Amino acid sequence: MTRIDLSDPAAIRREGAAWPWRIAFLIFAVLLLVATHWPGSEPSGSTILSPDKLMHFLCFGGFTFLLWMTRWFRRVWVVAGYSTAFTVLDELSQGFFSPYRDSSGADIVAGLLGVFAASAWMTTFQPANDFVVRQQERRVSWILDELLGRPTNWLLLGSAFVLPMLIVFLPLYLLGWSMFGISIGNISLTLGILIGLAAVWGVLRRLVPDQLRRIETDRPCFDCGTRLAQLELDEHGSGHCGACGHPVHASQWLRLPVPRIPLAAVLQADGPLGLVCITGYVLLAMCIAPLLLLANGHPGLASAIFYTGTVIAAAMAWQWHRVLRNEIAAQGDRRCIRCEFDLASVPSEGGLGTCPECSVIFARLHEAVDDEVEGSHR
Ligand SMILES: [Zn+2]
Ligand SMILES: [Zn+2]
Repeated sequence: MTRIDLSDPAAIRREGAAWPWRIAFLIFAVLLLVATHWPGSEPSGSTILSPDKLMHFLCFGGFTFLLWMTRWFRRVWVVAGYSTAFTVLDELSQGFFSPYRDSSGADIVAGLLGVFAASAWMTTFQPANDFVVRQQERRVSWILDELLGRPTNWLLLGSAFVLPMLIVFLPLYLLGWSMFGISIGNISLTLGILIGLAAVWGVLRRLVPDQLRRIETDRPCFDCGTRLAQLELDEHGSGHCGACGHPVHASQWLRLPVPRIPLAAVLQADGPLGLVCITGYVLLAMCIAPLLLLANGHPGLASAIFYTGTVIAAAMAWQWHRVLRNEIAAQGDRRCIRCEFDLASVPSEGGLGTCPECSVIFARLHEAVDDEVEGSHR
């Protein structure tokens, strides 16, 4: 567990931002325990095939992600370890408490695949090395922390996800069963989730502009949240937060343009051998393995494997994209990120400049910000 330094306003803010996630995690964990230990109904001849393997994948993946967001543990492998233990124990204990439930190996596998897929994503959230780039990413997490610091937004975003998801999933699922006698649980659940995520995206697009305006007017410190609108920056746009002492730069309150990375460049991020590996991976994890399982009468596991393959492929692609993007962005004060114009001799004012060729804004840090200094208290 991490310890909090109560004299550090940045640590207090991090702790405050973690609380809503802790409550969400505890509620989720209790609901998951109750749902997995609820006495099942007496087995009858024709039980409806439910997408239960996919549910295991999603629920234990969600458990892992929420545990990570509580900030109780800093290391990914610790979170993954606890989630793995929880998944196995939860499944094994079902046999003891619920007369009609059996702990099944396939359920455990589906749950562990969820833990695995969530862990892959957790490894992609390491902070960027370059200060300007890092502040741009922290700008996004600052907005999310502000939004999720309000319980009403949890309700809003939660219902934006759950309601459309259920409205799409349940009728499709029941219709497929009663009309055609086939179980399309996995497909209808996937469709429902996609619609739910689209609705969440729509709500976020309405909520974010307010926060963007706040960043412009308040100019907050992204570490401790203090309003720095009155702070005098030096001629190079640099300064230090008066409350927590962390460095700030004029560019952090602007949305700097991001380099466009073509998909071909992302796929070739690890060279030709990497491309061969990713092709093999996609074939094996997203095509061959699910099809083999499907052919052998395991549609539930097939979908869990397919989901795992897709989620991990997306995490890899995102990580490659982010590394390439940040490499180019870190050089953004020397070479224009859009037209590659040589900016070395282009002047900057207050830490910001404009490309004379394509008028893209760039940030220039006068001196390297030392990570040692950044962590210290002033
Ligand atoms: Zn601060
Ligand atoms: Zn340019």
